[in-house]
Amino acid sequence: MNLHDLLVTTAALYLIIAGRYFAISGLFYWLLWKREPEKVHARRLTPLQPSAAVIRAEIRWSLISSVIYAIPGAIVIEAWKHSGTAMYTDVSQYGWLYLIASVFVYLFLHDTYFYWTHRLMHHRRLFRVMHKVHHDSRQPTPWAAFSFHPYESIIGALLVPALTFVVPIHVGAILFILVLMTICSVLNHTGYEVFPDRWLRGFLGRHFITAAHHNVHHQKYTCNFALYFRFWDKLMGTDIMEEAYDFLGPTRAIATAPTVAQAASSEK
Ligand SMILES: [Zn+2]
Ligand SMILES: [Zn+2]
Repeated sequence: MNLHDLLVTTAALYLIIAGRYFAISGLFYWLLWKREPEKVHARRLTPLQPSAAVIRAEIRWSLISSVIYAIPGAIVIEAWKHSGTAMYTDVSQYGWLYLIASVFVYLFLHDTYFYWTHRLMHHRRLFRVMHKVHHDSRQPTPWAAFSFHPYESIIGALLVPALTFVVPIHVGAILFILVLMTICSVLNHTGYEVFPDRWLRGFLGRHFITAAHHNVHHQKYTCNFALYFRFWDKLMGTDIMEEAYDFLGPTRAIATAPTVAQAASSEK
């Protein structure tokens, strides 16, 4: 791997990551925060109004994080050019079933890594140094998607590039995961819930993380640590969602109450 190629790839990747950040965060910021409220068909999660200084800080930290994300990404690309990774381009090499399964494996492993490193960064000895920057956004905006202290960005940037050396993944699948990662990170920080209430009460809300879930983390700090799925939070007893919102509570309680038939069969 030569240093010149690595630097050029890092610079190109930085432009792509930062450009993607401005495009997606900028779009949602305009759609949700800049238009007249009556045009916004999404649920505002708190009445808190982020200051211009906080938004500027979110953008500044996100641009620094983009450099940190570009470096391991460029190492993967350069290693791939020399056949040094487990990435492949021919779908028939492992088949479609593997391709779809590999996306879920990557997302689950990333979610697991994110949950545990995130909980660790909430330890009082690490919080101020590593994670406070992210929580300076008491009510985050879409610009907070990559708003992390560089120490946190380094931790966050390691896993997925490392996996590409070990777990075979199609190039298209890894691109899909990277775009999905950005969209999820932006959506989780919009401060608005863009999905309808009935979706949140259904399968999507029960298993996947949306803004309503992650926004509670920015308010309460001690719950809702995961990134994509509610699995780890539920398993470890750190999941709060229905309790935090009136619009989910009563309906959810009715939805989860067993029917007469279910109750009777469980007693047998
Ligand atoms: Zn956050
Ligand atoms: Zn946190």
